[in-house]
Amino acid sequence: MSVGSSAYDVAVVGGGMVGAAVASLLGRCGFSVAVIEAREPAVFDPAGEVGLRVSAISPGSARVLEQAGAWPAIERQRCCPYRSMQVEEAGHPGGVEFEAGSFGLERLGTIVENELIQASLWSALQANPLVERFCPARVASFDNGTDGVSVTLEGGQRLKTALLLAADGAASPLRRQLGIRQDVWDYNQQGLVAVVETEPDNPGVAWQRFMPGGPLAFLPLRDGRSSMVWTRPAREAQALLAEDDDTFLKDLQDASRDGMVRPVSIGPRAAFPLAMRLSEYYVSGRVVLLGDAAHVVHPLAGQGVNIGLADAAALVETLLQSRAAGVDLAEPGRLAHWQRWRRSESELMAGGTHGIRTLFTPPALGALRAFGLRLVGKSWLARDFFIHRAAGMSRNAPRLARGETLKDLLRAS
Ligand SMILES: Cc1cc2nc3c(=O)[nH]c(=O)nc-3n(C[C@H](O)[C@H](O)[C@H](O)COP(=O)(O)OP(=O)(O)OC[C@H]3O[C@@H](n4cnc5c(N)ncnc54)[C@H](O)[C@@H]3O)c2cc1C
Repeated sequence: MSVGSSAYDVAVVGGGMVGAAVASLLGRCGFSVAVIEAREPAVFDPAGEVGLRVSAISPGSARVLEQAGAWPAIERQRCCPYRSMQVEEAGHPGGVEFEAGSFGLERLGTIVENELIQASLWSALQANPLVERFCPARVASFDNGTDGVSVTLEGGQRLKTALLLAADGAASPLRRQLGIRQDVWDYNQQGLVAVVETEPDNPGVAWQRFMPGGPLAFLPLRDGRSSMVWTRPAREAQALLAEDDDTFLKDLQDASRDGMVRPVSIGPRAAFPLAMRLSEYYVSGRVVLLGDAAHVVHPLAGQGVNIGLADAAALVETLLQSRAAGVDLAEPGRLAHWQRWRRSESELMAGGTHGIRTLFTPPALGALRAFGLRLVGKSWLARDFFIHRAAGMSRNAPRLARGETLKDLLRAS
């Protein structure tokens, strides 16, 4: 224990993908960890229907999940690596294609159901005696004190911790209680998601078409179907959601006409409101914001959870250095360094995604965009910059994402 009578070195509020990942990494480094999660995670059934929520997990994030003890279970159960990505502008054939091999990568990413990621991380948490899970449980109040944080759960249970991590999602109650301001850009768009059967089967390619109103993406699933993410203006998304299956399918066929594959059947649909949110700061005393609690980006670049997992890996690096130096886990200078590192990265990613979204929205710029895409496709430098950043393996990425293991970090600290 790092602080007086603290029961835990670190307490994590929110056991979603980011919270469970940071808890597992810390537990595996010998920190005592409490995880407080409001909802019991779903049990993943590999024989059941594919979930509506999937994520394109970058190679860097896969390495982080490997070190968190979750990746073998993910690969064993159900996921789909993709080696190729095609991006095009509606009405302008000949967009840009990225191939993993040309960047020295084995794959560009892996499509994984969010529920499988969370369930695999929770199995890793369960196997670690240093991690205690409070679920279902919520924080009723907390005192962000100079010597430690006192946390009271709804129901009255009290915990003490040196560091409190808020990984409680975009609506983060902890962030609100701390009064941390956010820049919010409401896109007035929604992301429609569904599992789509196509002819021919998806050949293992992440395909995205930019259209006025928002992009349409087909992400490959292991059984040859695609996970669709179709961004539309909010009102139109709601109308599409209310359509019967045949009408929706026809609209989807129109939108994807002459594309990589032709949709032939559609499963249940759901829609999620899209916004960009950037917190003014990520650290307040002994409380640290991680993942969507700190920042939310448009899903068109498939980066939200990847940035959150990089936050987690970077924080573990920082806390190992603090422990090795014998200083408080909440030492302000070290947390400020982590904040500068992660805030600049998430700003860059949010800004880049926001810029692409803005550029790709006005219909009048179609020809210019198609030209721009072809330029990016031809410029080796631009391709390399985009892909290595999206792969989570740039020079600024945390060491775990660049291939070092927890053992390497522990040896060095
Ligand atoms: C349509 C769509 C497609 C996307 N596709 C991608 C993609 O391809 N790749 C990618 O990287 N990202 C993608 N994202 C973004 C990604 O889904 C999010 O970034 C990610 O889910 C954030 O994870 P998180 O753990 O930070 O937050 P969450 O997943 O929101 O988890 C927060 C957790 O905190 C818990 N919680 C909340 N309040 C409390 C409380 N008071 N007490 C205790 N627990 C609490 C919740 O129950 C939940 O389990 C997409 C998003 C959308 C909308």
